Amino acid sequence: MNGGGNIHPVFDRMLGREVKEARLGQRGLVIWLYGLSGSGKSTIAIALERRLAAEGFFTQILDGDNIRSGLNRNLGFSDEDRSENIRRVAEVAKLFAQAGVVTLTSFITPRRDLRELARQIIGPADFREVYVEASFKTCASRDPKGLYAKAAGGGVNQFTGQDSAFEEPESPDLLVPTERLSVDEAVELLHRNVIDRIQAD
Ligand code: ADP
Repeated sequence: MNGGGNIHPVFDRMLGREVKEARLGQRGLVIWLYGLSGSGKSTIAIALERRLAAEGFFTQILDGDNIRSGLNRNLGFSDEDRSENIRRVAEVAKLFAQAGVVTLTSFITPRRDLRELARQIIGPADFREVYVEASFKTCASRDPKGLYAKAAGGGVNQFTGQDSAFEEPESPDLLVPTERLSVDEAVELLHRNVIDRIQAD
């Protein structure tokens, strides 16, 4: 797996992160949004990205469905594939953060060990764990992709919250309760939580 000892990373000779952050006038961070399908991850990521872009920040969204149709199109929803999905996304998010980019990810990340894996890969200092919270019932009534209706009829394999577990977090860096907040309020809460960390010193 490691190239049989023939892989020699060259990180020490590459242009440093500080140079890129100075060029961009900001500091890289991964804002890791997770929660049930339909909880509001993508909606909030898109709205926050627009706001940050309007303020002059350079951003990138990594979204579950997009990544699963490209980079991770060979992965399914078994425990093993969910881990590999998160491992790859975390590695990509880390590259963006180290290039100084404010990176928003939108993945269900249903298990605590997956959130921990992402934190370890990205590095705790660059990782904001944000739980986008809505109950299964609320998500099922929103059903923006029609998945809950399909899953109820048995048409979705290993559907999170139904026949694949979602583990509630113990201590997320931030909890965004989308049943009680509007999209604008949710974005405001998140913006307040990250703005000091992404501004240049
Ligand atoms: P996810 O990316 O978590 O699967 P989506 O963002 O695709 O979820 O869908 C969330 C749905 O919930 C959208 O239809 C959105 O308009 C709606 N919604 C209602 N209230 C909120 C809120 N406060 N934050 C985010 N989405 C909300």
